[in-house]
Amino acid sequence: MANPRPLVAGNWKMNGLKASARTLGEIIAGYDAELRDRVDLLVCPPATLLLAFAAAVNDAPVAIGGQDCHAEPSGAFTGDLAAEMLADAGASAVIVGHSERRIYHGESDADVRKKALAARRAGLTPIVCIGETREERDSGRTLEVVGRQLDGSLPDDATGENLVVAYEPVWAIGTGLTPTVADVAEVHAFIRERLVARYGEEGAAIRILYGGSVKPANAKELLAVANVDGALVGGASLAAADFLGIAAAY
Ligand code: PEP
Repeated sequence: MANPRPLVAGNWKMNGLKASARTLGEIIAGYDAELRDRVDLLVCPPATLLLAFAAAVNDAPVAIGGQDCHAEPSGAFTGDLAAEMLADAGASAVIVGHSERRIYHGESDADVRKKALAARRAGLTPIVCIGETREERDSGRTLEVVGRQLDGSLPDDATGENLVVAYEPVWAIGTGLTPTVADVAEVHAFIRERLVARYGEEGAAIRILYGGSVKPANAKELLAVANVDGALVGGASLAAADFLGIAAAY
């Protein structure tokens, strides 16, 4: 089976106001035919901007996504957003299980799995994030942790069309630190093995993104690693030139 088509996804986190539509406009303008040939782009702004961003994208081939969703389709969950609401606002994907959700909101693998299922129910592609802490890496438990997160967080019956996995070492997020290319290769090969063992041939079609301090300067070497099918980008996705510079590594 051919390698999955690469995806570069931007996670804007809690950044962005209405005026940030300018950045989205620059991303759309810079996503030229050559780049479109090589890589998919997804921008995940805060939920307050989804409707405006979906309207601004119009029929340009930049996808819009959410950063989290609730597991239920509706109900008494003050402050939460259902996957159906994100889809209704124009999202086609949603990040679930980001380490900031796992850490600050106490989300477990089981919670993340329910959210991934909710995303699929709403027709969204869940981008399920996993990754070890510094302490887990230093004590040699990276593969054990990542394996447990995969088992617990991913829905059954996943395909290349309805699931993306993002490997994001917690210690690499927002720190400027990245694993070595050999370490990225080891973890991504392990994830691929587990996906194929669980989903058969479809496991080879599921995109595995690397995330954690990806910048234009290191994108080429990180994205060239086997089984790295794109990037989930935080800080560097807030500037169009950096985000496009990462995509241009393909
Ligand atoms: C992230 O938060 O998903 C992320 C990868 O952040 P950064 O690129 O800033 O490390």
